[in-house]
This record gives sequence, C-alpha cells and structure tokens, in this order.
Amino acid sequence: MEQRKEHVSMVLQRLVPRVLDILTVHFRHSREAKGPVVSVPELDQLTADLGLDRPLPADPVSDDAFLDILQRYLAGSTRMQHPGYMAHQVAVPAAGTALADLVHGTTNNGMAIYEMGPAAVAVEMAVLDWMAGLAGWPRLRRPQDGEGDFCEGALTHGGSLANLTALLAARAAACPQGWEQGTEGMRLCVLAAPEAHYCISRSVGMMGLGLQALRPLPVDERQVIRPDGLPAALAEARQAGCHVMAVVASACSTGPGLYDPLHEVGTFCAEQNLWFHVDAAHGAAALLSPDLRRRVRGLEMADSFIWDAHKMLRTSSLCAAVLVRRDRGLSRAFSQQGSYLFDGEEHPGVDLLERTVECTKAALGLKVLFNILLCGVSGLRRHVERQYDLAQRCHAAIASRPGFSSPFPPQANIVCFRAPGDDDHQLQVRRRLLEDGQFHLSSTAIGGRRYLRLTLMGEDNRMEDIDRLLDAIEAFSPEPGGAPSS
Ligand SMILES: *Cc1c(COP(=O)(O)O)cnc(C)c1O
Repeated sequence: MEQRKEHVSMVLQRLVPRVLDILTVHFRHSREAKGPVVSVPELDQLTADLGLDRPLPADPVSDDAFLDILQRYLAGSTRMQHPGYMAHQVAVPAAGTALADLVHGTTNNGMAIYEMGPAAVAVEMAVLDWMAGLAGWPRLRRPQDGEGDFCEGALTHGGSLANLTALLAARAAACPQGWEQGTEGMRLCVLAAPEAHYCISRSVGMMGLGLQALRPLPVDERQVIRPDGLPAALAEARQAGCHVMAVVASACSTGPGLYDPLHEVGTFCAEQNLWFHVDAAHGAAALLSPDLRRRVRGLEMADSFIWDAHKMLRTSSLCAAVLVRRDRGLSRAFSQQGSYLFDGEEHPGVDLLERTVECTKAALGLKVLFNILLCGVSGLRRHVERQYDLAQRCHAAIASRPGFSSPFPPQANIVCFRAPGDDDHQLQVRRRLLEDGQFHLSSTAIGGRRYLRLTLMGEDNRMEDIDRLLDAIEAFSPEPGGAPSS
C-alpha cells in the first residue's frame, strides 16, 4: 500500500519554527556584524561545503539534515542585514514581504488569469492604483468602467521585464501594425542616455530593432540628460530617417544614482508628441515623501514608467510595476490571441495576462500590500527618507576627508566616491574590503573614471559604519590622506 504522505501544512508546522529560530540567529549575527558581510569562496569549494558535490538525495532527509543544509546555505549567503552591506540596489526585506512569500509559496495562485487568483488580481490592482495615484495619474480601468480617464498597469517579475513591457507598449503606439507585420522599414528608434540601465538596450535588441536603434541623448559630466540637447538629438534621429518610438529618462540612473530632469524631458516629449518613458525602478519611491517627490517632478507627464518594489519598498525580489498612462495602451503591447486563454467571454475581473510577458505569474502585489499593512505607508516613507538622508551625510563625511572625493551630491541613497589613488586602486580597495568581509561595496565607471559606489539599502547602515568604512579604506591607501592621483 502506498504510504500516506505528510501534508504540506504538517511539514510547515514542524519546520517553520525551527527555520525561524535559525534565521533569527543569522539576522542577529548579521546585524551585530559577527562574521563577514559576504564571503566569496571558489564555487567548487562552496558546492562541496553545501554537500552538493554528491548526487542529490533520492529520499527525504531528516529534519536535522535539512536544517544543517539551511545553516550551510546561510553561511554561504550575502548578509543583507549586515551594517556593512552597501553594495547593490536590492531591498533588505521587511517582514510583510517574507510573509507574502510564505503565503504565495503555499497558495501559489498563478494569477495572470483572474480565475487563477481573483484575490491576487484585486491586490495587484489596488497596489498599482496606489502607485499610479502617487504619480498623479488616474486609477486603473476596471471591467465595469465605461469611458473615462484611466491608466493601465501590471506587476512583473522585475524591472527589466517591466521596461521591456513599457517599450513594447510604446512600439505598439508608434507602429500598431508592427505586431502582425513586423517593423522592418519603419526604422524605429529609442532615445536614451548612455547611462540608462542596460536592460533598455537589451530590450531594443530583443525587439529586433538592432542596437543602432538606440540613439544616445546628450548628457552632462554627471551623465544626466541635458534638456537643451534634446531638439538636436531629435533632429539628428529624424535626419537619419528614424522614427522615435520612445524617449527614456532615468529616475534615478543606476550607476551615479542621479535623476534626469523629468519635467524638462516630459515637456519636450509632450510638445513633440513623443512617447516619454521613465525608468523609475529605483527612484519612484521618492513619491512617498512630500520633501523628496520634487526629484520626480514631471513623472506625471510620462506615457509609461516602471517602479521596482524590490528596491526601495522593501519587498523581496522580484516585484516591479509597469504603468502606462494611455487607456488600453498596455494591452495593445501584446496584440496576441491564445484561444484557450483569451476566449472573448465577458469576465468579472481582469486578465493581467494581456499585459505581461509572463503567462504564469506570482501574486506579486501581496509583497507590497503586506509591507504596507505591517509598516504603513508612513513606515515606507520614513525608510526612503532615512536612506536618502544618510546618503547626504555620507557624502559630507567623504567630502571632508583629505584625499577622498565625492564628485556630486547624491540625489538618492547611492553615493559615488573616490578614495585617494588611481582607477586601479579603487578596484583594489573594493576587492580588499570584500576579502576582509566587513564591507560590501560596488563600483561604477562614470565618464570613463572609476568610482566606489555605496547603495545604502539597509536600516542597519549607520553613519558610524560609514566612518569605519572610510577608516578602513584610508588604511589601504598608498598615501593616506594624500592628494588623489588623477
Ligand atoms: C534595477 C534597475 C533596473 C533593473 O531592474 P531589475 O528588477 O533588476 O530587472 C532597471 N533600471 C533601473 C534604473 C534600475 O535601477
């Protein structure tokens, strides 16, 4: 007789408290900076440490063996809660999103079709309405809505996919017949700053436009779009026989973390009737703060924008919003019919499938909703304000250290700076810090120069950690306190 399997809920009842105990210790050690923020052994070594250099088990392992692997996994993981974690733009998750992952992990409503997760669709729409409202946009269309002013949106598995989706919507607007007939002969192009996230050029490549269809916008020395150069960029594109399908601005840019002048770019696009797309993956969160939202002034003029909740809204990866200002502008991005899914019947809800690359999709809205329920919008606002403010103070601390330079005041929670020494030295500093295990930074090139880069994502990043970091960097420097070599 077949052995009756233990139900999922029983396994969870047994293991979740023990997993939580282990995570709690892991978080405490991380927050107290016991142990390295990251260690990056050779992959083969790590695989062996995890016991994964042997065939995977044919039969269930004991609880203890399972928890042992979990411990090893955590030991080989980057500690987001460590005060020295300042590397990448990934959120340190709040509790709400962790609970949402548990609920989704067990209910698994693949909710791209309304009937596959009605509550998840309702949550997603409410989250998108909230985001649209913050941007000064009307809410999303519902099935019972008649004519009126609505936008369209969807949550996607990440900002890269959200940007692609928005650009597909822009393409559908520029070339409605393109879905059926292709766009060959149209010479569609996209105008974007060279510092735009690489997923923009990747999207252009994936759309088959050819990379020469990505035309650079003029920028200043900080790689921020220069609005006075827009007319010439448009004229040049037109002279080259190109049809501009979208102008892309960043809020904020990934490397330097600076906001493009959305109001100026948006005004130009409105005058010229160009699709204005704002990649606000990181920086849309400024909308939450009455003080910071001036950074995204002009976002309300966009035809589309994206917003990664897994950056400043403290959700786990991935959860990104794509919003399109024009009613039905997003559904048109995918003018495709799958007869088993799109049956043309009247539906009580919305099939988000029509708006996304994904077919099966996770209940992403739950991550945002649960964070809002447990932190409040006010808590998320305070988080954004705290991290942005910390970056300002960090910039001041760097600027006042002899030999250090921070080329421009930060506009988000990303700080670029140079330690005393040449380009190579910046990379060496990063490598040595990584080996040392107390700080995890990234680095970026801006205008051909190499910078160290801090992304202050964690509530555990404090000013004293930044002072310790600068001390540590100083100790590595060839001529401590000396003038930076150029
Ligand atoms: C992070 C980021 C992206 C990419 O988003 P993913 O969610 O990592 O795919 C795109 N654009 C900007 C400006 C970003 O900061």
